[in-house]
Amino acid sequence: MENRLRIYNTLTRKVEQFIPNEEGKVAMYTCGPTVYHFAHIGNLRSYIMEDLLEKSLRYIGYDVKRVMNITDVGHLTSDADTGEDKMLKGAKREHKTVMEIAKFYTDAFFADCKDLNIKTPDVVEPATNCVPEFIHMIEILMEKGFAYESGGNIYFDTSKLKEYYVLSNHSEEELLVGVRDDVDEDENKRNKTDFVLWFTKSKFEDQELKWESPWGLGYPGWHIECSCISMKHLGEYMDIHCGGVDNIFPHHTNEIAQSEAYLGHKWCNYWFHVHHLNDRAGKMSKSKGEFLTVSLLKSKGYDPRVYRLFCLQSHYRKPLEFSFDALDNARAAYEKLVKRVGGLKKEGGSVEPEKFAAYKARFEEALCDDLNTSMALTVIYDMLKDDMPDATKYALAEDFDRVLSLNLTTAYASMEAEANGDVDAEMERYILEKIEERKAAKKEKNFARADEIRAELLEKGIVLEDTREGVKWKKA
Ligand code: AMP
Ligand code: ZN
Repeated sequence: MENRLRIYNTLTRKVEQFIPNEEGKVAMYTCGPTVYHFAHIGNLRSYIMEDLLEKSLRYIGYDVKRVMNITDVGHLTSDADTGEDKMLKGAKREHKTVMEIAKFYTDAFFADCKDLNIKTPDVVEPATNCVPEFIHMIEILMEKGFAYESGGNIYFDTSKLKEYYVLSNHSEEELLVGVRDDVDEDENKRNKTDFVLWFTKSKFEDQELKWESPWGLGYPGWHIECSCISMKHLGEYMDIHCGGVDNIFPHHTNEIAQSEAYLGHKWCNYWFHVHHLNDRAGKMSKSKGEFLTVSLLKSKGYDPRVYRLFCLQSHYRKPLEFSFDALDNARAAYEKLVKRVGGLKKEGGSVEPEKFAAYKARFEEALCDDLNTSMALTVIYDMLKDDMPDATKYALAEDFDRVLSLNLTTAYASMEAEANGDVDAEMERYILEKIEERKAAKKEKNFARADEIRAELLEKGIVLEDTREGVKWKKA
């Protein structure tokens, strides 16, 4: 098949033609959530755009296998024995065990994904399932001379690599202790960029989850899980690896270091990174205390798909600033769009194959242009304005929604049903009878009676709307 997708590759710092290792097949990996707290809507921006990438690949015709880990163990804020242990912190905060915390927040994460129409990857693997694989990889790294033991922990020796900073432009100075907030001193390391593969002696003595290993009772470091879990399910060669931009360094840089040292060859060809969602105070993060979640948006009356549209309106490689004013604009756009699509008659005329193909090609081209989602949305507006049968427009909306996942063809009906939710069946029958009576009155040119009926219904809290598709009613 033709490889039409052009995508920015962090590894080469260029937009490149995407060519998978195996024709027509894509091996894709996504860094999953750290399940010590709810995902904030910043995290979910990354997952929405990764979902869009996966669905675009499928739409173009690739057979995709996508794998995601769940980070439920590991020392997670630093490469050394410093920082804090997020899972432990979550467990202490809620007086629960680490596994209880992991289960609760994994479920919460997938509930958010469902609300946002994010497809669950083909394979989802918690890190705690794969400890033997981590140990095996570390053993090989020790054998090959890429790892050493110091102070009870096993470290990766970055000085053994020809090139370490393959993904980022970090200068060594930046990593000097004290220059960056997250860099503390770990006296066991030989080089300041070395990172822990396995802990047996940690300053976190109260770590609940520990496993036997050739180096003693302990637990894995932060980065090893993604290398092992991806290889377990995708093999030695991967096409595309995804994450937020904060993952570029050190997480993905270290993943490449250990994976390529272990394999002895290049591992992943394309690196896809989603830029951050910021609020006015800067990058949205969980450590800031109060943070925005999907549940919070729902409690404020926003349909989660409105947030999905908000993300799709801008490019994944640009920082995106969140505000409720901006979300209100997205809501207005969403409601207008689904109303427009909801008013189409599925059976209105027949699908015109040429028009259908032309718009589909434009839509696909927008996606292939480094996921130009705002252009993809423009294609919808253009096709809705075009002079062609409703059936063609409806079929196109349905087709585009395979990628956009905004419930384009179903949202309006459910919005109406929800708005009219507490109108009982008897009342609904009464309203429909009155609408029929009004129609008959209008036909007989008895406009006074028609107005009377409208007023009667209004008194009962029901508003009538004359639309192109006929009379609609809603609660006042
Ligand atoms: P975590 O649960 O902290 O491991 O993060 C899950 C994903 O969200 C990772 O891919 C991060 O790179 C990404 N991420 C973290 N903060 C943000 C943000 N403010 N905006 C977009 N993505 C983010
Ligand atoms: Zn990862």
